[in-house]
Amino acid sequence: MSLPKSDLTKQADGRTTMELGPVLPKTADVRDGHLFIGGVDMVELAREQGTALYVFDEADLRDRMRQYRESFAANYPNAGVLYASKAFLNKEVLRIANEEGMFLDVSGGGELACAQAVGFPMERVFMHGNYKTEAELREAISAGVGRIVLDTRLELARVSRIAGELGVVQKVLMRITPGVEADTHEYIKTGCEDSKFGFTMLDDFAFKCVGDVLGTPNVDLVGFHCHIGSQIFALHSFVEAVQVMAKFVARVRDEYGLYVEDLDMGGGLGVAYLADDKPSSIAEFAECTANAVMEASLEYGLPLPRLLVEPGRSLVANAGVTLYTVGVMKTLPNIRKYVAIDGGMSDNVRTALYHADYEATIANKADQPRTEIVTLCGKHCESGDAVVLDGSLQHADLDDIVCVFATGAYCYTMSSTYNGQPHPAIVFVRDGQARVVTRRETYEDLMARDV
Ligand SMILES: *Cc1c(COP(=O)(O)O)cnc(C)c1O
Repeated sequence: MSLPKSDLTKQADGRTTMELGPVLPKTADVRDGHLFIGGVDMVELAREQGTALYVFDEADLRDRMRQYRESFAANYPNAGVLYASKAFLNKEVLRIANEEGMFLDVSGGGELACAQAVGFPMERVFMHGNYKTEAELREAISAGVGRIVLDTRLELARVSRIAGELGVVQKVLMRITPGVEADTHEYIKTGCEDSKFGFTMLDDFAFKCVGDVLGTPNVDLVGFHCHIGSQIFALHSFVEAVQVMAKFVARVRDEYGLYVEDLDMGGGLGVAYLADDKPSSIAEFAECTANAVMEASLEYGLPLPRLLVEPGRSLVANAGVTLYTVGVMKTLPNIRKYVAIDGGMSDNVRTALYHADYEATIANKADQPRTEIVTLCGKHCESGDAVVLDGSLQHADLDDIVCVFATGAYCYTMSSTYNGQPHPAIVFVRDGQARVVTRRETYEDLMARDV
């Protein structure tokens, strides 16, 4: 993949780090030109721990979890918030999610094992996935997960059989494809039925399958689930999904006599990656979703279900940053300036994968305006290996510490060891203290499974 040609007529924005506003973790500030997060000097931390390094602002993380819980509690009588663990997973974030009263969304046996390892209450764990293997289903049912979210009729048969073998009745939700496709700026209704996930509403398939689930032993259908997409800015997409789901739930009541306990509206709330991004707030999302469910329930004469949501990105993206050391600079006149960092697509593949945008700053020059447009490229053997394409940065010198913001979601969990690059360490910072919660991978770790 080749990089887009730099737009050299574009002026660097000149904004300093603190003007990055919504992109920053909550406790970010600048002291004597150095970027601080959680009261910890990012420059010192990078020198101590080495780079590439993932840093999470624990106060930010906990604050967003509380905002979700409190905003839903303020707007709805019976709500639960599941942390979608695929966004960022390690033991410590799951311990924190548990302490903050979150439910948990796991989408495979590995995520489930991590939840078990920290003693996460299994009744608050929901298992998702379009193909949960036989082994994963068995692990989940024997662990006693609160809900399995059924994706297919094949899976229904598997869950029923395994639950029967284990002598339990498994509570299940059905994942429905509500035909609402959400986009950052607008929603598109066409094509959204073309999904590998869930029961389609086309040809009334999902509705007919409700009968199958109700007629199957060892499973107890307690509700419905949908997930319309990710990085959604427009709240009306969620409202529309609620309306479709409520209509479906009303029909299920009318024709099958089933009153559902749970309505799980999935995740998807967007976050700010760039300073000018204006996502809806957690409070706005909660109010809007809760009102939509209450209005639709009133309209169809339904008792209020328990309302569940499953945020991933909007809980962790802005809490996390990545620190790198500048090691190489290369200027191609009239084309582009490259600043090479000691990481790249191995620790953050989102840019190579789909040209994701990020804001960056030089942590040891955080009070200086960003006066250049550069491409922060990685150290990997791919031309498309970059973390920031044509982004604003202060003038870089060798050994500067670069901080890339809003890397908390879908970066570490998608990381690889490409080119034999060990996984970075993860540090949580809070009240001036830094603690390593996942140690850096070693070369020995890299080879540990080889015979
Ligand atoms: C990925 C996913 C989520 C979380 O989505 P975000 O956009 O990160 O909030 C929630 N539920 C399901 C089923 C998912 O697949």
